[in-house]
Amino acid sequence: MSTPKTVKPTRHILSLSGGKDSAALAIHMRGKVEGMEYIFHDTYKELPDTYEYLDRLEDYLGQKIVKTTYGTTFDDLLRQYGGMLPSNHRRWCTRMMKLKPFEDYIGADACINYVGIRADEARVGYISHKPNIQAVFPFRDDGIDYEGVQRILQDSGIGMPPYTEWGRTRSGCFFCFYQQKIEWVRLKQRYPELYEEAKAYEKPNRVNGNVFNWCQNESLAELEQPERMAEILEKWELQQARAVQNRKNLPLVTTLAGLETNEAPSTGCLICHL
Ligand code: SF4
Repeated sequence: MSTPKTVKPTRHILSLSGGKDSAALAIHMRGKVEGMEYIFHDTYKELPDTYEYLDRLEDYLGQKIVKTTYGTTFDDLLRQYGGMLPSNHRRWCTRMMKLKPFEDYIGADACINYVGIRADEARVGYISHKPNIQAVFPFRDDGIDYEGVQRILQDSGIGMPPYTEWGRTRSGCFFCFYQQKIEWVRLKQRYPELYEEAKAYEKPNRVNGNVFNWCQNESLAELEQPERMAEILEKWELQQARAVQNRKNLPLVTTLAGLETNEAPSTGCLICHL
């Protein structure tokens, strides 16, 4: 007589990016789901701030955040991709360092993946579409928007990610090509050694001599010139002044409804920047 197969229980997984939305979701979901697993896909190219924030969160949750690995290094992957730095159109980094480790971690198990897209966002994610992984969106279901996320973080004492204190808007790799020029300037000011590390990748490729840059239209060597940094800062300050003016011109009802926020446009991928 054959023994009946035991069915593995469905796993519950919440992926943390080091960003505010996934952190707030972890806090929001604490104690609501039995056996919740918290994971973080470490690229080994994260900001020190991200590790600090995850430690803070781990203490609050009273649970270990599992750090997945991708079995090699960024430099090795870069070699495999012919020295082509990742970009919006060549996003092998997310696939290899974030999405694949996520899918490997889950394997063939049935899993519910908790995603921190907020109620005020129209984002669709770069998320797994494997049939055994079902994505759910608790913030959307519970009507939690940008202000709601800020409130959760404030009330818990976790606060916003430390990198927001020096004006960076997103989690993810320190060299992420999604960052705005002003964020490169701030990276240079805050972590000059990481800026140097990013700049070092813009050398001619040993195989074919091609040079790839992280940001459009200019190299990091050009961007770090004092006059160029001053120009970027000045432009950013002008944009901020304009944004403040526009906010003043918004109808009160829009402001009260929280329909406008100070958040930077979110063009990154969910698994890296949520
Ligand atoms: S944070 Fe940016 S560079 Fe890093 S894996 Fe994500 S998209 Fe790629």
